[in-house]
Amino acid sequence: MVRIGFIGLGIMGKPMAGHLIKAGHTLYIYDVVEASVLELLGQGAIACKNSKEVAGNSEIVFLMLPDTPDVEQALFAPDGVASGIRAGSIVVDMSSISPIATRGFAEKLAGLGVEMLDAPVSGGQVGAQNGTLSIMVGGKAAVFEKIKPYFERMGKNIVLIGGNGDGQVCKVANQIVVALTLEAVSEALVFASKAGTDVVKVREALLGGFAQSKILEVHGERMIKRAFQPGFRIRLHQKDLNLALQAGRELGVSLPNSASTQQLFTAVAAEGGIDLDHSALVKAIEKLAGHAIGEEKISR
Ligand code: NAD
Repeated sequence: MVRIGFIGLGIMGKPMAGHLIKAGHTLYIYDVVEASVLELLGQGAIACKNSKEVAGNSEIVFLMLPDTPDVEQALFAPDGVASGIRAGSIVVDMSSISPIATRGFAEKLAGLGVEMLDAPVSGGQVGAQNGTLSIMVGGKAAVFEKIKPYFERMGKNIVLIGGNGDGQVCKVANQIVVALTLEAVSEALVFASKAGTDVVKVREALLGGFAQSKILEVHGERMIKRAFQPGFRIRLHQKDLNLALQAGRELGVSLPNSASTQQLFTAVAAEGGIDLDHSALVKAIEKLAGHAIGEEKISR
């Protein structure tokens, strides 16, 4: 069996690594928060003291970390992957980070004889738990074919988009659609609620027509039930919209609604909501309406 490393065992990484263990692989794992590894140790994984030790024991190293600086540190700090890895190994970064930085990381690893894939995901915590993630991959086709069987344990819709960084570009595009759809669902539900209409029925009706979406289904329900525990934190979605807005500026692409949705996330964060699920975006729209879903109807 191939020896596998997994670094970053948070909301997403833990269930994803769990699928690889269930497939019979020995996993060498590391997370800066020691408690994050405990559950997987019970399933037979082996704890390492740093990313270097993970890399020294593994032929393939998966990363599932929050942001670009975290991936840079896990790869290139003195006790990082690059200082322990052997030529011929493969690094698979499944975090959502900067496409430009990703290309730089792939080049640096290539200098060590190590191939890299960027393979960010969509589908959230539920997709990670059920092994039904969408996986958007950048890198060489031959490397993709080698790693595909592992991706198939974690996801269903697995697409090689292009070269290094192209998986991350695709993920940024995904996050633009998700943010703007969250904003649209928030407006629609607050509008209906303040009009005194039953939002449960509104969501149910909209799910059968052109307004149907996974966001209306999952996050619309969260908004109605006030279920804002993450999930996907506002902090992380703000990171993704920053990537979109920065790249948009560099490319000369205006992203007006990504910019305004980022401002709405900032408003929720300013009220202490930065680590709530991103469906809590609705709180900003509610504030502007002077009305929260579930409150008394307006008089007609
Ligand atoms: P998380 O914060 O729950 O988990 C990240 C883990 O990485 C934490 O356990 C943290 O302790 C660990 N970590 C941070 N820096 C480290 C380092 N240098 N070395 C080792 N471990 C380190 O985040 P998450 O929700 O699992 O998200 C991970 C990535 O997946 C992010 O890029 C996010 O944007 C993306 N993503 C998340 C979701 C979601 O629904 N949560 C969905 C799709 C994509």
